[in-house]
Amino acid sequence: MSIQKLETSVIIIGAGPAGAGASFFLSKYEIPHIVIEKETFPRDKVCGDACSGKTALVINRANTEWLDEIRHEPDNFLPSWGIKFVAPNGRALDIPFSPKRTPETKAPGFTVPRLTFDNFLFAKMASPYCTILQGTQVNLINNSPGKVSVTVMHNAAEYEITAPVIIGADGDKSIIRKKYLSENAAPKAYAVGLRAYYEGVTGMHAENFIELHFLPEMLPGYLWIFPLPGGRANVGVGILSETIRRKKINLREQMLYAIKNSPQIGPRFVNAKLIDKIQGWGLPLAVEQQPLSGDNFMLTGDAGCLIDPFSGEGIGNALYSGMLAAAAIKQGIEQKKYSAAFFKTAYDDVLYKRLGDEFKVSAALQRLCKYPWLFNFVVNKASKSQSLRDTISSMFTDMDLREQLSKPSFYFKILFNK
Ligand SMILES: Cc1cc2nc3c(=O)[nH]c(=O)nc-3n(C[C@H](O)[C@H](O)[C@H](O)COP(=O)(O)OP(=O)(O)OC[C@H]3O[C@@H](n4cnc5c(N)ncnc54)[C@H](O)[C@@H]3O)c2cc1C
Repeated sequence: MSIQKLETSVIIIGAGPAGAGASFFLSKYEIPHIVIEKETFPRDKVCGDACSGKTALVINRANTEWLDEIRHEPDNFLPSWGIKFVAPNGRALDIPFSPKRTPETKAPGFTVPRLTFDNFLFAKMASPYCTILQGTQVNLINNSPGKVSVTVMHNAAEYEITAPVIIGADGDKSIIRKKYLSENAAPKAYAVGLRAYYEGVTGMHAENFIELHFLPEMLPGYLWIFPLPGGRANVGVGILSETIRRKKINLREQMLYAIKNSPQIGPRFVNAKLIDKIQGWGLPLAVEQQPLSGDNFMLTGDAGCLIDPFSGEGIGNALYSGMLAAAAIKQGIEQKKYSAAFFKTAYDDVLYKRLGDEFKVSAALQRLCKYPWLFNFVVNKASKSQSLRDTISSMFTDMDLREQLSKPSFYFKILFNK
């Protein structure tokens, strides 16, 4: 059987949010590309299913009508207006995402099962510039001067696909990362998460606030309860792998124990029913800046370890990094440049300039969460002070303000009511 040879401008491995983000913007720039995806859509991805304002921002930039579609389908995409933090002492703090809300304000976030959301993104990739080979796993990548090629089996035919640049959007076990960066990158900072779907959980916030419960035994990780469309809930836990190893935690047992026995959570699950099997997955965290590109390749989303170390948010960063990778490639094509030096400036530096501070603050916050007393202190104070609640609320949109959270002076100010 002869190999069919295809040439394109960009190869993308993976059709999750990172691959979709890259594809949307390559199509916008009229750059032909081939997306290779091992699964067949619709496919599931273990996740908390919560999408932030950053997700909405990228979708809106790709096509405003897509965001309107999301906002008009509450049966699939549940609008979320805020976040509930529950401190280790059990005290809860409701923080709206939009403290200065008007009747025109749209919900900044939404929740949607990934099975639905990723399929929505997948359908939107259709364009004259995008060829998708799904059900097709990439196992081998070859380099020749100035080119990258992959050989894959698709519908019983063998293809060799060649391009000047390849985007790794292939998630936390990225083979592109393994091939190009295994020696240069720092070991991954990893968390492990479990996801369970329930129905019949009571006590949800009227405006679908997502809930993070910082239970003492899970710090600096947390248990989440995220409301989903149709009265269901995504419930899960995320903890640093290092903590799991050190404390020999059985994550599944710990999650089920908390659901049954925690005084704040247990009563809400009395009539709840687990409706799917509990599944786990890794979260590669952005705790330090790592290389994201090299000669003829770029890494996006989880392949680039771009999950927020505090919140665990990775969908927005995956879409955002895909968008920036496409913009860098547009410049590369115009200037005929695909070198490591070019992509470092056009992609890594741009991405870290926009997201680097956010990652640093989140890494610092994650470290602070090791101290339950500090968490209890802030939540106790905030539950008595509207202005402190407003300040924390604004931190979701204002990075300079959020940086305060990682500084001791912030806590002194609260202590002395400044
Ligand atoms: C338990 C848990 C809870 C989470 N909760 C949230 C949350 O609530 N909100 C949030 O924003 N983020 C959350 N995240 C993070 C989020 O799930 C990821 O950051 C996000 O999925 C990253 O998108 P991606 O496109 O980079 O990777 P993926 O979504 O993993 O997509 C990668 C794609 O590449 C394909 N692929 C992989 N290898 C190959 C190959 N060799 N050949 C071809 N195709 C390949 C895969 O099939 C897949 O479709 C959570 C993660 C976990 C584990």
